[in-house]
Amino acid sequence: MTTVAVLGTGTMGAPIARNLARAGFAVRAWNRTPARVQALAADGVGYAPQPAAAAARADVVITMLADGAAVEQVMVGTLEVLSPQAVWIQMSTVGVEWTERLAAAAARRGVVFVDAPVSGSSEPAEKGQLLILASGARAVRARVEPIFDVLSRQTLWLDRVGDGSRLKLALNNWLAVQVEGMAETLALTEALGLDPRLFVHTIAGGPLASAYAVAKGNAMVDGDFVAGFPLRHAAKDATLARDAAREGGLSLPLTAALLPRWQDAIAHGHGDDDVASAVTASAGQLV
Ligand code: NAP
Repeated sequence: MTTVAVLGTGTMGAPIARNLARAGFAVRAWNRTPARVQALAADGVGYAPQPAAAAARADVVITMLADGAAVEQVMVGTLEVLSPQAVWIQMSTVGVEWTERLAAAAARRGVVFVDAPVSGSSEPAEKGQLLILASGARAVRARVEPIFDVLSRQTLWLDRVGDGSRLKLALNNWLAVQVEGMAETLALTEALGLDPRLFVHTIAGGPLASAYAVAKGNAMVDGDFVAGFPLRHAAKDATLARDAAREGGLSLPLTAALLPRWQDAIAHGHGDDDVASAVTASAGQLV
């Protein structure tokens, strides 16, 4: 039986650990706040008091942590105990520089690193319907695919190591400008003396709509936000996208313009709110 260590059982890591255990993998998990792992015992997820204890003798280690710094901090000691045959699947969204740094740390220990961030929030994670953006790792694809099959509706394999993380930045930059664009357009609609619902209903189903934008627009006008993607992660990803663009000599004017407002909303206590909720609140809308 394949033994999987899941490091990080937050919003995304918990359903990942649970779904793998339910699918018959031997899962041991670690989380900085132990109660979040202990809550998974009924699903067959074993508790490890330290990341190295979860990872020792594991065939596969999955990291699903907040950001690159957290992943590095957790994996520094953990890499020491990993078997050279083990595979490290890095699923957190950490951007390009961190992915290169983490891949280099794995290479120094002779551990195979799979860059595999995901698209889809808590509900797709619960349902095993994520989109996995995996890259590199040709030699171990057959080994990790049974795991990806449990977690995802699709795995997109890209050849160059790190391209999964590059594509993830592009996806989340698109998410950011859609959410901000919807919030601002609803505010404009209202300022023009129209019901903001009219805007969402007018674009829905037509060429100006995306399913994501319409769902977020409806949530904004109804003020009914399901727990989804928190603003603190959306802002992290927009920052990673802006910085990666700068590295390539490109500026992202839209992203650069929204970031100060998003940081301000975080400073005012909206970091844990769904990005659409937080952006709406910070826009001061009356919708
Ligand atoms: P989350 O619920 O905030 O969980 C973050 C995890 O990281 C928790 O296990 C947390 O531990 C741990 N952590 C944070 N800082 C740490 C540190 N310094 N040392 C050790 N552990 C640390 O986040 P999430 O929503 O699961 O997201 C995880 C990753 O997936 C992020 O990179 C995010 O951008 C990405 N992602 C999220 C979504 C989404 O919709 N939520 C979708 C796609 C991708 P504690 O429990 O102790 O705080």
